[in-house]
Amino acid sequence: MVRLLVGTTNQGKIREIQRLLHATPCELMGLDAYPQLPEPEETGTTFEANARIKALAYAAGSGQLTVAEDSGLVVDALDGAPGVQSARYLGPDATYPQRFEAILAGLAAHPERPRTARFVCALAVAEGTRIVFETRGALEGEIADAPRGSHGFGYDPIFLVPELGCTTAELAEDEKLAIAHRGQAFRMLAYWLGARGKER
Ligand code: IMP
Repeated sequence: MVRLLVGTTNQGKIREIQRLLHATPCELMGLDAYPQLPEPEETGTTFEANARIKALAYAAGSGQLTVAEDSGLVVDALDGAPGVQSARYLGPDATYPQRFEAILAGLAAHPERPRTARFVCALAVAEGTRIVFETRGALEGEIADAPRGSHGFGYDPIFLVPELGCTTAELAEDEKLAIAHRGQAFRMLAYWLGARGKER
């Protein structure tokens, strides 16, 4: 069975990825198996570039087939912010309520509706020094007028899915995985891993 290192320390993401790959014939390993691996600097200006940087760095350090993803919230009226800075928006120690407040304050200067936004996930798999698989998932939505809901993590409380009339923080974990960016990308990965398993 193929061993796959998941290159993230974000507990919210790890929970989602374990659920998404639970039926895939692969043995998942976390970065806790390689505590000596340094966290690469995410110097890319796109989600794709950062996913590749992380996958290649962790694959080189571990010698394992490695998946990494880079994700975040893109708000159109804020020129794409927080974007690739999502995890570090307003500084690494800012709280999510502070980040929500800044986004809502920024949008106050933009009365146009809908306040379109999307969650994006770029995923890359590295083997040795090569990227062997890449995909991208995106969930279109809007910024809510105020935070709502207590599920999920990060920006979920302010991300409204208009078709459902709720934020992603108001969805159960499985409901969010069925529609959201990471679910889309990791389902493609599950398919790729299955096909690769059959070829060997
Ligand atoms: P990364 O670890 O550099 O990819 O940063 C990802 C950041 O984007 C997270 O820390 C969150 O701030 C945000 N983010 C990504 N996916 C989600 C999601 O599903 N819900 C809420 N926030 C998310």
